[in-house]
Parts: sequence; structure tokens; C-alpha cells
Amino acid sequence: MSNQRAAAIERARSYLNDGQFLKYLGQRVSVKTQSSVAGSLPDLNYYLDQTIAPDFRLIGFDTQTFANEAADGGPFLVASRIEGEDLPTIFCYGHGDVVPGMEGAWSEGRDPWTVTIEGDRIYGRGTADNKGQHTINMTALEAVLAERGELGFNMKFLVETSEETGSPGLREFCQAKKDLLAADVLIASDGPRVAVDTPTMVLGVRGAMEFSLVADLRQEDHHSGNWGGILVDPSVLLSYALSTIISREGRILIPEWLPKSVPDYVKDTLVGCPFDPGESADMPDHEWGEPGLSIAERLYAWNSFSVLAMEAGEPTNPQNAIPKRAALHCGLRFIVGTETDKVLPALRAHLDKHGFDMIKIEAPADSPAYQASRHDPNLPWVKWAGRSIKATMGRAPQILPNAAGSLPNDIFCDVLDMPTLWVPHSYNSCGQHAPDEHLLMPLVEEGLAMMTGIFWDAGELGGDFEGKLAAIG
Ligand SMILES: [Zn+2]
Repeated sequence: MSNQRAAAIERARSYLNDGQFLKYLGQRVSVKTQSSVAGSLPDLNYYLDQTIAPDFRLIGFDTQTFANEAADGGPFLVASRIEGEDLPTIFCYGHGDVVPGMEGAWSEGRDPWTVTIEGDRIYGRGTADNKGQHTINMTALEAVLAERGELGFNMKFLVETSEETGSPGLREFCQAKKDLLAADVLIASDGPRVAVDTPTMVLGVRGAMEFSLVADLRQEDHHSGNWGGILVDPSVLLSYALSTIISREGRILIPEWLPKSVPDYVKDTLVGCPFDPGESADMPDHEWGEPGLSIAERLYAWNSFSVLAMEAGEPTNPQNAIPKRAALHCGLRFIVGTETDKVLPALRAHLDKHGFDMIKIEAPADSPAYQASRHDPNLPWVKWAGRSIKATMGRAPQILPNAAGSLPNDIFCDVLDMPTLWVPHSYNSCGQHAPDEHLLMPLVEEGLAMMTGIFWDAGELGGDFEGKLAAIG
């Protein structure tokens, strides 16, 4: 490692140790950017205008903010620093909004809007999801600039403020601002590592779609004595239908719901991939899901079907009645290679074939809510970044061709047309979307080091970067 590279990483670490990182994070956490709470728009604007834009301008970025064309969406900020036309351009993404603070539900009386340090933990709403993660990346940029005087590459950094409500308007914004946002690669941070002690690089996401199976059989409920034995029970009907869709062992039985094929590189990349339950006492069920697949393959290299909720009668106050209606609210998580336009027609044909033509399928108009995306770990940018992380950490990161969860990542790889490479700085038990959300100090330090290393190395690529990347063996 060059002395200067090491010095830049040391400098990034010093920003954590001297309190600067925590000062910035504290300012950002104190803004109640709860995008799902009505009336939060002033806070979302304040976040971008007062806690992000000035800090980018301090390190020589131009910043622009944009209102969201979607009525239910918050503003966007684009910070950019262009150093040379022939240099590589990196795109980074973060979201400034958070889920509700859940005041009063945090342990030890912690205030979600104040950064509190206890041992290795940095508590506060948004520390993990996502204010802390983009603050790490901004801090790493600052360290490289302080050490080198320039980045050595071009940077475009997008911060949105509606991620927690499904990123309304993000796709349209990226479509409209394609030129402004054009870049060679996305390198950003969100979500957890695969395991707390395993640096991770995630290249895509599983997609997600939801739909309901509804047996809506008659006008009203009927007395289970006076009518019992002479009326079809909608819950029983749905249970039998369900048993033809997924096996007793959790295997999906509708072929059109499965990926057409899974490339070898997906399985190769997942060999030895750890599973980390976080602080949960639960462990995966070995007899559940597609037979013959490892836990990592079932999570990252296959599709999964879940019944998210069941509806019939009054669960907390059963009546002596045969409900008129029952419903199963279902979710399918899917990988690239799944023909999503065939999922619901295949379900219809399947139900009809099994004599369940009275069961209706209801799905939102914009289904699937999330498309799947994935990249090949052999892509030059991925190999390059893996090598950079190895140089910093002394070990190669665990690569996931896609995460198990879902994000609108296809906006970046399909609309903006760039490979996507996520380096998460959090872990499974960070409490995101729950009380006691926190970051871990050692992961912040490692995150600062890894990102500073990546940004440092990007600055070494120079004008013939494509050739240099292609030459990486
Ligand atoms: Zn979130």
C-alpha cells in the first residue's frame, strides 16, 4: 500500500476518533426526516439544504436540489465534482429519510434524535439506515481530498428523501436527469453486511411482488350451526389451494414462479457464504425450501414464496359463523431470470386446473413493486473494488450477486445503465426500522477505511481507466 493511500485511510479514521464524524452524524440524526409522517417536507428540505449541501460544498462539490415531481415524494440533492472528462465517474447514492422515531420505545430512555454512544454502539434513528452510511462515504471523500488535493475521478452523489416510502418519483427523476447523473459505476452503501465480521459487496437485489388469493363466496357470514355442513368454507378452500402452490417442505410447485436458469457464477460466489442471524435466537430451517440448495443459495440464488397474512372471520374474537370471505396475502421474492409477467397468469391457470376457479387473484397495478437485478462478480469494476477492499482489509469481501431483500436497484442499473456495487456498513442486528437503531464503531472504522481505499484507488485509474480495469486478472 502506498504511503499516501495509508495516510488517507489514517486520516479518515482520525475523523472518527477526533469526533468530527460523530458531530456531522449528530447534526443529521437530529433532523426528524420521517418521510412516512405527514408534514415532514420541511424537515426533508432542511436535511438536504442545511446538513448535506453545505458539507459537500466545503469539500468542493457543486450541489443542486430538486423538488420531487411525485406528489408524495421528497426532494433530491445531487452533489457533483467533475475533475476531468476522460476520468472515471463514480455515482453514489444515499437516502436522508428515516422511518418514524418510535420515541418512548427505545431502551434506557434513549432519544432517537440524539446520537448516543454506548460501548461500541452509536445509537440514533438513521445511524444505520442510511444517514450513517452516507456520512461514512462523504467522510471518506473528504479524507481523499485532504490527502491528495483532488479526487482524481469524477463523483456524482445523489441523496433522495423518500426511500422509506418506496422511493416515489426516483425512477422518473433518474430518467429525466440521465445526463446529469451519468456515470461509469455505482458504489454506494446501504443495508447490512452478510455477517457482522465479513466485509461484503452486494451487486443487486431480489425483486418482490405481492398479491392476494381471495375466496369471496357470498353476501354474508352464516351461523356455523344452522348452515354448518352445507356451505363451502372459504378458509378450507384457500388452504387446499395453497397446498398445491407450495409443498409441505416449502418448495414452490408452480414452474413459472422459478428462475429459468441460475448462472454458475452465482453458485460459485456463494460457496462458503456465511449466514448471520444477528441477535435473533432463530436459525434457518434446514428442511424448508428448494431441496439441494445451501442456505445462501436459497436466500440469494432462488425464489421464495411466503404467506404474509391470512384473513378470515375475527381472529381475536371468533364467532360461531362461517365467514363469507377469506384471503391469503402473499409475497414472492425472485431473482433475475424469473419471467415476472408470467407469475400471475400461471397462477390463474394453475388454480383453474386444480378446480379453484372461484378463487380470485388481486394484485396492485404496479406489480412487481421491485424488479430483480444482479451483476457478474467477474465484471472489471467488481474485481477492481474487491481488490481494493482486500488491500485495505487484508481479506477479500464476500460478494453477493444480489441481496435477498429488495431495493429499486434496477433504476440505477437499467435506467442509468451502470453496474451497481453496494458496500454495506451495517449488520443484521442494527435495529433499523425498530427502536435502538445503531451503528457499530468497528464497522464505521472499517467502512471509512474501505471507502477511502476505494476512492483513493479510483483516483489512480486515470484517463485510460477502461483499459486498466479490463487488464485486472
Ligand atoms: Zn430503511
